[in-house]
Amino acid sequence: MLGAYTLCIITIGAGKVLISIDIFSSSMGANSSTIKVFTKRQGVEQLKLLEEILNHNQQFVEEKKYEEFETTKFPNKKMVILTCMDTRLVELLPKALNVRNGDVKIIKNAGALVTHPFGSIMRSILIAVYQLQAKEVFVIGHHDCGMSGMKADAVVSSMKERGITDDALDTMTYSGIAADDWLRGFENVEESVSHSVHMVKKHPLMPIDVPVHGLVIHPGTGKLDLVVDGYEG
Ligand SMILES: [Zn+2]
Repeated sequence: MLGAYTLCIITIGAGKVLISIDIFSSSMGANSSTIKVFTKRQGVEQLKLLEEILNHNQQFVEEKKYEEFETTKFPNKKMVILTCMDTRLVELLPKALNVRNGDVKIIKNAGALVTHPFGSIMRSILIAVYQLQAKEVFVIGHHDCGMSGMKADAVVSSMKERGITDDALDTMTYSGIAADDWLRGFENVEESVSHSVHMVKKHPLMPIDVPVHGLVIHPGTGKLDLVVDGYEG
């Protein structure tokens, strides 16, 4: 058995993560390796997760499990979905809509919100439409969303507990970003979806022939409720 040992140091913010990759070849010629991750700055739970992911990934690639997912960057169903990053929707939403790998572009953020007409969400939607063959837009919020009723004050308090100083928050204010607006959630998911649909539909750079639909999904059952039918203008 041949042995080799590689060390990498990756700097993430102020903390250093030390990764050791022990690579060896078996007498049969097949390559294999064990990935171990160490750090002084981060919690044990995070380390285990990274190690678990890297080891799984190595096996995934080696066993060519990616083959069943092979497709192109162009969506078969010619659509782009904006939805929430909620954990319950990771697999449920595609299954509930009957979309598979290769069918759609999916954009996610907290709350399925379009909060700024020239922010990254709107930019992604425009790129999907102009460059990636999406012909319809679906904004899909969900019941029991973490952004529902979220108060900026509570988020700011959590930040302060984690060591964010008043100076940092003042810098944000002086830069023209009001924490109350920037961190605010919504009171009603249907209204929020309607607002985001309106932002997309009325965007000056959005072609008028692109239907923009608004829906709300139940995070337990996957049931969809129609809020805005984009075919009705
Ligand atoms: Zn949500």
